[in-house]
Amino acid sequence: MDQFISLPRGTADILPEEALLWQAMESQARTVFGVYGYQEIRTPFFEETDLFARSVGQTSDIVQKQMLNLAAQTEAQENDKSTSLSLRPEGTASIVRSYIQNRLDKKEKLSKLFYIGPMFRGERPQKGRLRQFHQIGVEAIGPDSASPFLDAEVIALGTNLLKQLGLNDFVLRINTLGTLEDKGAFSGILKDSLQDKIRNLCPDCQNRYDRNVLRVLDCKNKECRSVVEGLNFWRNCEYLSPKSKEYFEAVKKALDALEITYVEDPKLVRGLDYYTHTVFEFSCQRLGSQDAVGAGGRYNNLVEQLGGPVADAVGFALGMERILLATAKEGAELQAGLDAFVVCLQEEGLLKVFKLLQDLRARGVSADMNLRPGSMKSQMRQADKAKARFVLILGEEELKAGEVTLKDMKQGVQEKFRLGAFEEIVSKIRSNKSEN
Ligand code: ATP
Ligand code: MG
Repeated sequence: MDQFISLPRGTADILPEEALLWQAMESQARTVFGVYGYQEIRTPFFEETDLFARSVGQTSDIVQKQMLNLAAQTEAQENDKSTSLSLRPEGTASIVRSYIQNRLDKKEKLSKLFYIGPMFRGERPQKGRLRQFHQIGVEAIGPDSASPFLDAEVIALGTNLLKQLGLNDFVLRINTLGTLEDKGAFSGILKDSLQDKIRNLCPDCQNRYDRNVLRVLDCKNKECRSVVEGLNFWRNCEYLSPKSKEYFEAVKKALDALEITYVEDPKLVRGLDYYTHTVFEFSCQRLGSQDAVGAGGRYNNLVEQLGGPVADAVGFALGMERILLATAKEGAELQAGLDAFVVCLQEEGLLKVFKLLQDLRARGVSADMNLRPGSMKSQMRQADKAKARFVLILGEEELKAGEVTLKDMKQGVQEKFRLGAFEEIVSKIRSNKSEN
């Protein structure tokens, strides 16, 4: 036998029963997005590496350590150019690229976009952390995005979406980073207060101290966390400009008006470079160390930074695997029953019922049969497993009389139909379809 090849580390198969949960999650999300007026956007799963370096940030963990680059770069080789391509580690960069490239700013003053799909990061796989994982996300981009109400609306959308998806015990933490200048000022203050503690930080954070000190706040290392716990200089927000303060106050007021519960966390920063002003995170303690189910924030400079027009923006992304872990539902419960299962007991009748089966399906009746039929008992067992509402039986008697027995599995009654009375059979099955 040939050697078996298993799936790559950090990826997962989604088998049919579990796929039902994914479908349900996707359709619930689509419903919520419809209600909020968000439209779907689909971008490629890979982009030029530079796009991510320029948006997510050259010094971010994602770009430094987690990019999955494509080895086969046919086109690049053909053109003798050295275009490097990477699988997308997140959605925002691609969507902003698409927003700019397709001149969406010319179409509307606020583009409300959502996406659902796989993301790829070369991380160390563990529970709740994969190399191919899936996100549901939104981005609200355009000049009309410049309103604290939109921050609140996007956060409310995330909150309602998580609730719709069956998650109720999550915590919403919010913070503001202010403008790029405020962020710079904050970095300076943070650097000063960490200066005599550099030795206590992990090697990564010692590096971050020079290149992007805000990331130290986001580090998951125990020692770094305890260093961060000990800091408390930001209480009076002196790095924030009055305007930024005012903006954040307005966001909180709007959240209060919507009765959204949140915790203010001055240590909350995000691992991606592009955020300004409001940042937020949804977490679920039960998940243990990988407890973030989603995160987002405002990124007012990214569109311009990537060569587009001036356009403010705010968005979030939820991790679908983590939501599924947190809700721990069983896919089997979602399995829909068949309308009909066809049981054939006579070899000679097989072609007839095979045709009947296709006719039923052509009329939208969900139906199945065993194409290698065994005993009555085994076929009935199969009908049962398929949660069939009706069973159509063609036995010896029926075959002789040119009839078929229609057994209603719910009511426990049965009726005979002429094999030719197809329409009657269909309407009988259909009239019970809705109570299935
Ligand atoms: P974490 O702090 O857990 O590494 P992150 O800050 O890298 O998360 P984001 O880039 O903000 O995460 O992505 C949003 C959400 O996507 C996360 O809150 C999480 O639910 C999910 N997510 C991120 N990375 C992974 C991964 N490798 N595997 C599974 N889900 C992930
Ligand atoms: Mg991460």
